[in-house]
Amino acid sequence: MLKAEDRIFLNLQGEEAFTLKEAQKRGDWDQTKKFLEKGSEWIIHEIKSSDLRGRGGAGFSTGTKWSFMPSPTEKRPSYLIINADESEPGTCKDRDILRHEPHKLLEGALLAGFAIQAHTCYIYIRGEYFVESQCLQQAIDEAYQQGLLGKNAAGSGWDFDVYIHRGAGAYICGEETALLESLEGKKGMPRLKPPFPAQSGLYQCPTTINNVETIAVVPTILRRGASWFSSLGRPHNTGTKIFSISGHVHKPCNVEEEMGISLRELIDKHAGGVRGGWENLKAVIPGGSSVPLIPKSVCDDVLMDFDSLKNEHTGLGTAAVIVMDQSTDIIKAIARLSKFYMHESCGQCSPCREGTGWIWRMMDRLAKGQGQSHDIDRLEAITHQIEGHTICALGDAAAWPVQGLIRHFRSEIEQRLLS
Ligand code: SF4
Repeated sequence: MLKAEDRIFLNLQGEEAFTLKEAQKRGDWDQTKKFLEKGSEWIIHEIKSSDLRGRGGAGFSTGTKWSFMPSPTEKRPSYLIINADESEPGTCKDRDILRHEPHKLLEGALLAGFAIQAHTCYIYIRGEYFVESQCLQQAIDEAYQQGLLGKNAAGSGWDFDVYIHRGAGAYICGEETALLESLEGKKGMPRLKPPFPAQSGLYQCPTTINNVETIAVVPTILRRGASWFSSLGRPHNTGTKIFSISGHVHKPCNVEEEMGISLRELIDKHAGGVRGGWENLKAVIPGGSSVPLIPKSVCDDVLMDFDSLKNEHTGLGTAAVIVMDQSTDIIKAIARLSKFYMHESCGQCSPCREGTGWIWRMMDRLAKGQGQSHDIDRLEAITHQIEGHTICALGDAAAWPVQGLIRHFRSEIEQRLLS
């Protein structure tokens, strides 16, 4: 369990004000100038050494991602984009950073922006986060007034501007290239990669896109040292993580914990346990709606980090833990997710546009007990035809929950088939 002194987010529950004065009392904006004076290569080296992996879902090394950025030129400036679109069902961790700890994010933005030599940062926040965008704007205004942002930010000699851009509520705009399209004023439709954003991102200029939590932990890593961060968790799965726990638990919550904590400890200690006790657990979706569920037998021992969950054919994703007890109609629950992905498909590639509809219709039939025995194998085959054959990962996100259901609850589906 994470020791109190190792917590990064000291105001995650919003018990204190988010203002600059209070944030500085909690340690934010301390020594920022000193870190900037050490140079961009030092910052990137520290972040690489900390083994910080992106907190938005993919888990790619943050320092390595930053090192891909080419040197900016006058005609091709670099941009930092912070992805605050947080639309994955079950996920609400960034929300608490935005409204309760916005200065951690802004200080991290300055440090990350300097590291990749960007003078401009856009924070793309989902439109539904209206109050959060107001808190964030207030924090930005305060930081400008105190000279922490803008010209000669934090007295470093580096000019750095931060702008909020509010989205209009499309899930797909959380996909980094769709986000760029939306930011440019176009329809939020993912781009084919390559080229990757580091080569050709916003306005075809070098761009790094990071998740809110990823950027918000950067200042503390620099203050306390890469070795402190990498001493938490397990090798290649280091540091702390905010978990969003929801569903059939006594106390749904967002909580910061050490990477690699056991799922059972996480739920029992922080969420008040499973409704009806651990033995009443049926399954858990461990990383937001797009990752495959795991049944209780796996939940008993699994550790909550990237590699442990990958070994169980699922993923840490956004670390949104959705708990389902024995009362859950598991087929109906996954069918509901299939409907969501069908609705959110942008429609530009056919395996996703058509396939998500096929998945939803078959899942709906199975949930209603109108399926036939050949439907299960056919459904599974369709998911494999979508997975890996689309422009963006939404195709995979639609396929994986269904694959997880068939892998672990095939007998339950069979019991409900038309006789
Ligand atoms: Fe659009 Fe789906 Fe293709 Fe992604 S996979 S680009 S959401 S149609």
